[in-house]
Amino acid sequence: MFAAHSKALERQEIIQLLKLKGTERTALLQRAREVKIKEVGNKVYFRGLIEFSNVCSKDCLYCGIRKGNEKVLRYDAKDDEILNACRFAWENRFASVVLQSGELSSPAFVKRVDDLLKKIKQLSNNELGITLSCGEQSLETYRRWFESGAHRYLLRIESSTRELYYKIHPENDHHSFEKRLEALASLKQAGYQVGTGVMIGLPFQTYEHLADDLLFFKKIDIDMCGMGPYIEHADTPLYEHRHVLMSKQERFDLALNMVAVLRLLMPDINIAAATALQAIDPAGREKALAVGANVIMPNLTPCEYREEYQLYENKPCLDEDAELCRNCLEARISLAGAEIGYGEWGDSKHFHQRN
Ligand code: SAM
Ligand code: SF4
Repeated sequence: MFAAHSKALERQEIIQLLKLKGTERTALLQRAREVKIKEVGNKVYFRGLIEFSNVCSKDCLYCGIRKGNEKVLRYDAKDDEILNACRFAWENRFASVVLQSGELSSPAFVKRVDDLLKKIKQLSNNELGITLSCGEQSLETYRRWFESGAHRYLLRIESSTRELYYKIHPENDHHSFEKRLEALASLKQAGYQVGTGVMIGLPFQTYEHLADDLLFFKKIDIDMCGMGPYIEHADTPLYEHRHVLMSKQERFDLALNMVAVLRLLMPDINIAAATALQAIDPAGREKALAVGANVIMPNLTPCEYREEYQLYENKPCLDEDAELCRNCLEARISLAGAEIGYGEWGDSKHFHQRN
């Protein structure tokens, strides 16, 4: 039944696997776990997540911090707050951080990120690995940030089906499917380990769309993936379609199936256990680690800003400081039977093999 590994999965097989329930589903999840352990080991790598700014020039129809949401108080964390969070990560042997923000492309923003990268490298004697998740930028900007020390980049395609993409983004100069594809190609050209992903359980999304997403990841040969359930937010335009959504539990189960099938399809990539899983099930991220994910992103955003980085309802860990968050994760991960790769970058094996 699970051809992966030796033979590529076909679209129709993927659709069947995504739909599995009951004992057949349990077997799929178990198989994905085995493939993960065989291909990338049983270690979980920490990436300290720092959501350093919620200022955004875009209006993605699903996102709570979209430009058009006037209820959000906009913030820009100060450099020393960001550097303190990085220091915490380094001292606690997290080995890597993720700098995430809304999307801006002004020269001032590009320079700010560039300066931050240099300072982070300096404070950690070049030891901290840095992932960026700051949206679509020009090849020149991606190159500049790469040269200043970023080496991984997360840019979700959100949906690889053009038609669905434009149901969840306004179609205008600021939201172009073609530009998104171009940005992913530019990231690869600039030398990054490239991560993408989608939301699962979007209104209008079908199993066929999700199968095509997985095949898209394979086609563009990604190194990392972060995908999680779509969760509605009342102050967004997509909220009006909430009555067509699957239940949250169904979205959660489907997200785990997606992780498992992706592990079979691309056995040696890094797969993150998305934070949105935890918004549905308190042990959601650990469940993803048990079926194929091998990366987790503890939130190191200064607590005072977290309320204002609410991409969706019920976002977890709003008031949990970094220390608490680390202790809580350690306990959960050891309960899930995995080991934490402290002090290791935990780079994508796939990236090193394709280079
Ligand atoms: N602005 C950058 C970008 O869009 O690539 C990075 C930050 S953005 C907030 C990170 C991710 O949050 C997006 O790629 C999107 O998939 C996810 N996201 C936003 N709204 C969401 C929602 N309502 N439910 C689940 N995920 C959501
Ligand atoms: Fe901005 Fe990213 Fe949210 Fe889109 S998903 S509105 S680019 S923060």
